[in-house]
Amino acid sequence: MTGSERVAVIGAGVVGACVGWNLARLGAQVVLIDAGQPGEGVTNWSFSWVNASNKTVRRSYFDLNVAGMAVHQALARDIGADSWWHPSGHLRWADPAAQATVLEAVDLLADWGYKVEVHSGAEVRRRLEPALAVPDAAPVVFYPDEAWVHGRRLVARLIRETVARGAEHRFDTAVCDISTRTDGSIRSVTLTDGNRLDVDAVVNAAGPDARHVAALVARQLPMRREPGIVTRVECSPVPVHRALHAPGIEIRPDTEASVVLHSRDTDALIDTDAEPAELARHLHASARRAVPALGSARISRTRVVNRPIPADGFPSVGAVPSVPGYFEAVSHSGITLGPVIGRLLSTEIVSGERDAMLADFRPQRFAE
Ligand SMILES: Cc1cc2nc3c(=O)[nH]c(=O)nc-3n(C[C@H](O)[C@H](O)[C@H](O)COP(=O)(O)OP(=O)(O)OC[C@H]3O[C@@H](n4cnc5c(N)ncnc54)[C@H](O)[C@@H]3O)c2cc1C
Repeated sequence: MTGSERVAVIGAGVVGACVGWNLARLGAQVVLIDAGQPGEGVTNWSFSWVNASNKTVRRSYFDLNVAGMAVHQALARDIGADSWWHPSGHLRWADPAAQATVLEAVDLLADWGYKVEVHSGAEVRRRLEPALAVPDAAPVVFYPDEAWVHGRRLVARLIRETVARGAEHRFDTAVCDISTRTDGSIRSVTLTDGNRLDVDAVVNAAGPDARHVAALVARQLPMRREPGIVTRVECSPVPVHRALHAPGIEIRPDTEASVVLHSRDTDALIDTDAEPAELARHLHASARRAVPALGSARISRTRVVNRPIPADGFPSVGAVPSVPGYFEAVSHSGITLGPVIGRLLSTEIVSGERDAMLADFRPQRFAE
């Protein structure tokens, strides 16, 4: 591509917004399309922790997440951090039974050159988080370079800047058809509002619905079903200053008067008879044990969402050679990875340059 082609970005969550913003900077004509409103998908129902400490399953995946953290910092310098970027580090402590595993991870991460500190509970309360009910002598791990992101605000900011560079947008309308030329290359997208847009390329950034968009070009993108439940509670003042993992619960600030709660243990109950409201109460009870000041908080909103996870658990990013002009940008950890995926994929779309960092995450690994 020369950089002046028209590219439809399907999905304006954090991943699509990052791809669109980078494409516009490289001179492409961008059309951002979303079935709903930008940033209201999984991006708004995420724990939103920017990290690589939880990504040690494969070295190349860890490295990609470290790059994601660095590109977030660059993005904050570029567009301004305002209310979306919160580089306040991350705290983790565990029950005595799980402490050895947490500390093993610390050793591995330190070996890999990742910044990590271990403090006592008493020290953490004195220096960082006075409201935590952590035992004085418990080891608490602090990852100073980690952060959390307000996903919806980041998306809004990126879209504003992308539109200011001349991008078009179509929201509250879904892509329901993608047509190709006789040589198989992308020709146009059709929207549920009846419009058809001629485009030279499409980016599938449809999050949990990416499988359906892939099917529009007769591609099978196998995805896992791995739902998560997230609850927002209202409280003022907000008693925590950073994202943290305590036994059985993850807590992070959200707005000036709300906190987000999530737990993998509670996710495991989603497919049982338990109603979301009951699971939300469960999350709130666990949060109260870790941060007693949250006892007076009020549960405001709860949502069960599907994680956008390709079947092997890793991102699917890049061109699909059998459909020239079709690109994928589908990933769990999309909050951490959105900016780096946006940077690498937009370069690939515009210049054809394929970055080695994506070698393990190419769409071709799934049978075409
Ligand atoms: C419980 C939970 C906790 C998480 N915690 C973290 C975390 O701590 N750190 C982290 O990095 N990641 C985390 N994630 C993952 C992260 O939130 C996601 O990877 C990321 O938000 C995905 O962004 P996205 O833009 O791909 O998807 P979305 O935000 O869902 O955006 C996709 C968009 O595509 C649109 N769309 C779908 N189909 C169409 C169509 N046919 N036409 C037009 N538009 C369409 C949708 O309307 C939607 O707005 C978590 C996820 C969950 C569920």
